[in-house]
Amino acid sequence: MTRKIRAAADGRDAGGAGPRRGIVHLVGAGPGDPELLTLRALRRIREAEVAVCDHLVSEAILSLLPAKCERIYAGKERANHALAQDEINKLLVALAREGRRVVRLKGGDPYVFGRGGEEAEFLARYGVDFEVVPGVTSASGAAAYAGIPLTHRDYTAAVTFVTGHRRSGRCELDWPALARPGQTLVIYMGLATLAEICEKLAAHGLAATTPVAVIERATTARQRVVTATLADAAARVAAARVAPPALVIVGEVVRLREQLDWFDAARLAGDAWGLPLPS
Ligand code: SAH
Repeated sequence: MTRKIRAAADGRDAGGAGPRRGIVHLVGAGPGDPELLTLRALRRIREAEVAVCDHLVSEAILSLLPAKCERIYAGKERANHALAQDEINKLLVALAREGRRVVRLKGGDPYVFGRGGEEAEFLARYGVDFEVVPGVTSASGAAAYAGIPLTHRDYTAAVTFVTGHRRSGRCELDWPALARPGQTLVIYMGLATLAEICEKLAAHGLAATTPVAVIERATTARQRVVTATLADAAARVAAARVAPPALVIVGEVVRLREQLDWFDAARLAGDAWGLPLPS
């Protein structure tokens, strides 16, 4: 970090003279449980003068913003973007140019399917100071809270993160590579396209008995997990009326949930160990 950026990040004036330079903190808010925020994220949230939030950021986390902090909701629901990406980029530049400390709060990690890269590029292009605070991505959060290790020496040698979101009407993914056994597949934004994803994986040779988990609202009090196989995942998820945000995990590691689910067990057992419980 340059001296100027570090000074701005600490809230000091870079050269002493002149108006204070603004800065944008691209902050990963994690998957929902506020205790999964990093210490840095918490600090940036508490010091925010204006926050630009996407819809995945939980209420519990928004409540940590200072009362006097201006809040701007950028939306970002599938097919219902409150602000277009281009407008968000321009807004961040404009707010920082007012000399303000801007927190851009994003679900999970800003650089994992969060368009944080596009925002950072834009800020860099316009010479705006920025910082990126990594967050717990929903794959990590969902895996931990659903009892599904993303890798395990007995089952997987690789884990692949993909998006199920269609860009031009179809999921354009490398199906032969994704259908190879011996790996874990994590699909972000894959709920709407789950049937197509399962069909394509099966058509490219992945066994129909391969386990699948769909985790809705991971790490929150409303977390739900549906387990199935490649053959019946789409039907089970539809029957359970799973709603976004939801993450799909495909692979043998899903079987470990039977032994490793601690989160639902804690919910049933009560708060004896101070584990996260529904609020
Ligand atoms: N930057 C985010 C991902 C944004 S894309 C991250 O690192 O997690 C949005 C997708 O993330 C959703 O469609 C869903 O697949 C996943 N997601 C985000 N939060 C989630 C949560 N609490 N539970 C389940 N999936 C979640």
